[in-house]
Amino acid sequence: MIVCKFGGSSVADANQIKKVKAILESNDKRSIVVVSAPGKRCREDEKITDLLYQCNKDVNKGLSCRETFKKVAARYLEIADALKIKSKDITAKLDEVRRYIDAGRGADYAASRGEYLSAYLISLYLGWEFVDAADYIVINSDNTVNARTYANLASFFQEGKKYVIPGFYGESEYGEVKTFTRGGSDITGSIIARAADAELYENWTDVAGVFAANPMLIPDAKPIARLSYKEVRELSEVGASVFHEEAIAPVVEKGIPINIKNTNKPEEPGTMIYPEVEGCGIVGVSSKSGLSKIHVRKLMLFKKSGMRHALLTMIQIFGIRPCYSLFGIDSITWYFDSKMASDAVCQSMCERLKKEFELDSISVERGFAVLGLIGPNVDKSTEYIDALIALKEASVSVASVNYGASDTACLIGIPEESKDEAVKAVYDKLFR
Ligand code: ASP
Repeated sequence: MIVCKFGGSSVADANQIKKVKAILESNDKRSIVVVSAPGKRCREDEKITDLLYQCNKDVNKGLSCRETFKKVAARYLEIADALKIKSKDITAKLDEVRRYIDAGRGADYAASRGEYLSAYLISLYLGWEFVDAADYIVINSDNTVNARTYANLASFFQEGKKYVIPGFYGESEYGEVKTFTRGGSDITGSIIARAADAELYENWTDVAGVFAANPMLIPDAKPIARLSYKEVRELSEVGASVFHEEAIAPVVEKGIPINIKNTNKPEEPGTMIYPEVEGCGIVGVSSKSGLSKIHVRKLMLFKKSGMRHALLTMIQIFGIRPCYSLFGIDSITWYFDSKMASDAVCQSMCERLKKEFELDSISVERGFAVLGLIGPNVDKSTEYIDALIALKEASVSVASVNYGASDTACLIGIPEESKDEAVKAVYDKLFR
């Protein structure tokens, strides 16, 4: 069995959905399909999920969502019409959804209906069985997948039958509709691949796989043929947005390979993602901005491991969960997402920590990005030196280098304003 997930751009209109049908019918093993809500048809277009969140906001303001929902309904009716699906089947569902949103079922319910309606409509078009994700997938409050999900789906999928499942949502432990974070249909695809014991999970999108650098920055960036689970997670973590970073976890145990493919160019091989890949060196570069840096100094800090622990606990009390850390003998540097703390919070945190731990100094600096150099066994490759030379040649200053902590990523702290320049410089040096 092959599980296929089609993203928002692949189901954005009737023409795209016809391509989906052709892809599914070209291989009989493709028997389970997970779909997103219709995405943008062009740059100025609106995503159905965004419109549905807007509907919920209307209701929260004490208004009816009727006006905003008209745009949602029009999109589905247009698709149904072009696919020759009887509009009566869809109209009843649309009315029900609009009434429930107006009745205040909340943001998760509203947003989930994009996928629900998309899957329902596609199931009618394909003549495949519609399976409501809320009946099987249980999502914990921390957004992880509840083990009950796999018990619910055990021996559910039968050989020879074909299924359509909406992505992005399930139900909470308390039985309410609950969504994953944005882009979460990738996670649904992984859950279903694991539950069905699929031989392959195909993730269909609008690009030909994962690229060595963001193609928006480097239009002729090369696609990467093979990646490991770890590399994909590291790449997503440093800003590459092809595959949801939480979507690897469900397939790890069974080691199911993932193929990222382009719905508009199905003949291209795309990127294969395996549990492990061989090789040594950097295969991709990406960057993530919006980071701040806490720098702490105290003489002999390295001798006081209890204090390091207490410092970390304290900064977490101020709402800061660091994403990268670097240790020196008398100092520690933590990077964190700037959105986690306002200037006022940072200031009171610094005052409190300085006093309580008798620090020599503590500061928070804004405006950093992290550049990730990703690949198999990067900790055994010297290519990061070429990358650093490229940064020097492009006059990008380097705030920190974290090399050797991971066998998959070398992370370089740089000023936020240089992040695009840094990616271009490193790409030119390593991949041209
Ligand atoms: N439709 C949802 C979103 O826009 C989920 C997804 O597409 O994966 O985030």
